[in-house]
Amino acid sequence: MKFSWKNLLLWSLPIIVISFFLWQGIFAPIANENNTNLTNSRMTYGRFLEYIEMGWVKKVDIYDNGHTAVIEAIGPEIGNRMQKIRVELPASVPELITKLKKNHIDLDAHPTKNNTALWSLIGNLFFPLLLVTSLALLFRRSNNATGGPGQAMSFGKSKALFQVEAKTGIIFDDVAGIDEAKEEFEEIVTFLKKPEYFTAVGAKIPKGVLLVGPPGTGKTLLAKAIAGEANVPFFSISGSEFVEMFVGVGASRVRDLFKKAKENAPCIIFIDEIDAVGRQRGTGIGGGNDEREQTLNQLLTEMDGFEGNTGIIVVAATNRADILDSALLRPGRFDRQVNVDIPDFKGRLDILNVHAKNKKIDTNVSLSIIARRTPGFSGADLANLLNEAAILTARERKNQITLKEIDKAIDRIIAGMEGTALIDSKSKRLIAYHEIGHAIVGTLIRDHENVQKVTLIPRGQARGLTWFTPSEDQSLISRSQIKARIMGALGGRAAEEIVFGESEITTGASNDLQQVTSMARQMVTRFGMSTIGPMSLENEDSNPFLGRGMGNNNEYSDEIAIKIDSQIKLIVDECHNKTRDIIKNNRVIIDKLVDILIEKETIDGNEFTKIIKQYTQIPRKI
Ligand code: ADP
Ligand code: MG
Ligand code: ZN
Repeated sequence: MKFSWKNLLLWSLPIIVISFFLWQGIFAPIANENNTNLTNSRMTYGRFLEYIEMGWVKKVDIYDNGHTAVIEAIGPEIGNRMQKIRVELPASVPELITKLKKNHIDLDAHPTKNNTALWSLIGNLFFPLLLVTSLALLFRRSNNATGGPGQAMSFGKSKALFQVEAKTGIIFDDVAGIDEAKEEFEEIVTFLKKPEYFTAVGAKIPKGVLLVGPPGTGKTLLAKAIAGEANVPFFSISGSEFVEMFVGVGASRVRDLFKKAKENAPCIIFIDEIDAVGRQRGTGIGGGNDEREQTLNQLLTEMDGFEGNTGIIVVAATNRADILDSALLRPGRFDRQVNVDIPDFKGRLDILNVHAKNKKIDTNVSLSIIARRTPGFSGADLANLLNEAAILTARERKNQITLKEIDKAIDRIIAGMEGTALIDSKSKRLIAYHEIGHAIVGTLIRDHENVQKVTLIPRGQARGLTWFTPSEDQSLISRSQIKARIMGALGGRAAEEIVFGESEITTGASNDLQQVTSMARQMVTRFGMSTIGPMSLENEDSNPFLGRGMGNNNEYSDEIAIKIDSQIKLIVDECHNKTRDIIKNNRVIIDKLVDILIEKETIDGNEFTKIIKQYTQIPRKI
């Protein structure tokens, strides 16, 4: 990109807009602190006097050394509501004071603080200053770019290019729950510390290690730990930072990064989100992305360009290795792949232990109970959980984190912020029936997880929630378990239908229905759990570049497609009927539970089971 006025204009426009908002946001309130911009309504002095006579004025605040007043008045002209109105006062108004006193009107004068002028000066200067600075910066950058014909712009030369940490301060003990990955990396630390062990026997030291795993599982942490343990500098950049809108920037950044790294070897280069640059070439929808390909090529060149024994190890992280360009995975590049997974129970416990070290936790709290309650949580989620609990504890002015705060934090992380419950109304009753529907169906079916609690307190998008105790092993699920889940999910809607009638059912079940359909579809197309037979009819993620289900390249005939649909319908219908029966047959207890729920807003699992046990046997054989 060459410098031109058009570009300058394009760039400065958003800056102008942003800085205006900044100015408005940061300085305007301060500048106006002592001012009278509290209100938009105005009134003349004469009218103000009349208002006093009529007894409509309740309070008067005088500002600006007696030049302005903000009055609080109520009157027929202003809609019989108490309003704040601004009045410009004439130069000297001693009689006003007497008048106010006579009418027993509350009066207060606010002296002008000296720094008001200063603040408004800064406020006024801030905007132009910011603009000038941004323009100056732009000019500097643009001038760099005109260095030579055809040369890539040297945005890449700026310091913010990549992050360097001389010492990460992270050690392996800070990383928990991913022991296999750690072992792999302990070896790499030895490469960095004692390369001669390996070179002596002719072994080549690996250049690149690819960390694959979902977000928050500790990939960045692990990479930092290698640098920390080996006591070498840590150079890091994120793939998304490479891919800029200017062609050539990415490649020049890669060059700079490796140059700097070579000067500082031994060291670790960490490339986060490598999939942003390393995606398979030439497959992007709508043509390739030149910039990305250039960056990737540069990366490959750089990795080939240094000998394995120079002490640079490139660690890259991604959450999907399947979409990476195969050239990246070849020997001499990222030929080692280390998987980092969502931790299991023991992993979660270990991670909780690491993060509990610097927190004051009540001795009654057992971390293993927390680990039990949090299947599916990543390391980052767990760290966040303890931190949220600590914040809640501080907010309540307690000095130790108890189970109560931890419970709250778990709920918040799973389902979002808590809202306030509805006031008593028809929709509150309907939501109560919906949730009790989920809960009772879940409870009475043998293969369903147990109810942990039912609540009418909304969270995130949900207006009421039924929580089930998650089971640890989610990897092997039986057919009857899936059916149980489908019925549990249909419980809410079925209760609405039976209690309020077909015409009163609501949109509240849309999320449930989505889950129901997806579970039923997977039973048919992926798990071979229908009369179509044990066939896999849909490969998951067949096309990584389109969203799931968009690239319709499933290899079955239209005939099968029709069968799939009818099988899905069969499953859903069967479950729906059974669910309706459960609701119908347990109407008495459902009504009772709804009354309790509306009164208490939350029923926990034990209490819930206790109440049901008075009426029926659980779990029933359904
Ligand atoms: P990723 O790079 O895989 O997305 P991070 O390494 O950035 O995840 O993890 C974010 C934070 O979560 C870490 O700084 C750490 O506090 C916590 N964390 C994640 N995984 C672990 C783990 N295995 N052990 C300890 N803490 C972890
Ligand atoms: Mg990361
Ligand atoms: Zn529901």
